[in-house]
Amino acid sequence: MKICNSLSQLEAALQTIGPGEDIGFVPTMGALHKGHISLVSKSLSYTKNTIVSLFVNPTQFNNPNDLATYPRTEEADCDLLRQAGASIVFIPSVNDIYPSDDNRLFDLGGLDSYGEGPKRPGHFNGVAQVVTRLFDIVKPTYAFFGEKDFQQLAIIKYITKGLNYPVTIVPCPTLREDDGLAMSSRNMLLSPEHREAAPVIYRCLTEAVSMVGSATPQELSQKVTEMINSNPMLECEYIEILNSLTLQPVTRWDDAAEVQMCAAVFAGKVRLIDNIKLK
Ligand code: AMP
Repeated sequence: MKICNSLSQLEAALQTIGPGEDIGFVPTMGALHKGHISLVSKSLSYTKNTIVSLFVNPTQFNNPNDLATYPRTEEADCDLLRQAGASIVFIPSVNDIYPSDDNRLFDLGGLDSYGEGPKRPGHFNGVAQVVTRLFDIVKPTYAFFGEKDFQQLAIIKYITKGLNYPVTIVPCPTLREDDGLAMSSRNMLLSPEHREAAPVIYRCLTEAVSMVGSATPQELSQKVTEMINSNPMLECEYIEILNSLTLQPVTRWDDAAEVQMCAAVFAGKVRLIDNIKLK
């Protein structure tokens, strides 16, 4: 496995890939866990040329404290990636990704109007900046993204299609701990008490699936908010029921063929997100 700490090192490593060979790409912010590794394994099932980036992207953080405390475990990440069989790890500097101030604004097609969008102003534009920049550098054939970040996945599909990137976006299922908590780099920031409470989030989301027929979308999001908030360690920021394709709120179950429940919950200072398919 080649570790590339600069753009020039990556360019040299890319030269060793034969012309016409597929490239699989897994962009991450590091602090890797099994969820990330499942994306790497998926990529390796498509092509042996699997490139993983580790880059904590400053432009997608709307909260400076969140950026400052974001976990960084580069050495352990490289060990995991070596074991997983990645061929190249790209660890760029901020200057490699943003050689000049990146003020580029993206058309996100309104997919950022609900869910994470209003709660994290500028977040998805920052995601679009980094992903397009990384795609321009790596030129992947396939890129792998987790359904854990459901809205991010929809937005990436939208911008790559709109900008005609010749890349296939491959969605990957959410990996969970045995107790149901969605794996996340932020989980390592949880206190033991908050870690113990956190699986309640997914338990409530799965309960919501069984209540779809017996409550309206508004009643259901209210009910799930109350269920989560009844745990003193947790505080819902939002529970939203969205059309899976447009990411607009659903007020009647018949409004959309596919419906997703999306959640953001504070466990102490740590903000966790999760989602589940309701329909
Ligand atoms: P991040 O490092 O958090 O930016 O995540 C990098 C990629 O890994 C994104 O495509 C995430 O959606 C994906 N990912 C994060 N957590 C999980 C998980 N628990 N299961 C599957 N994919 C995940």
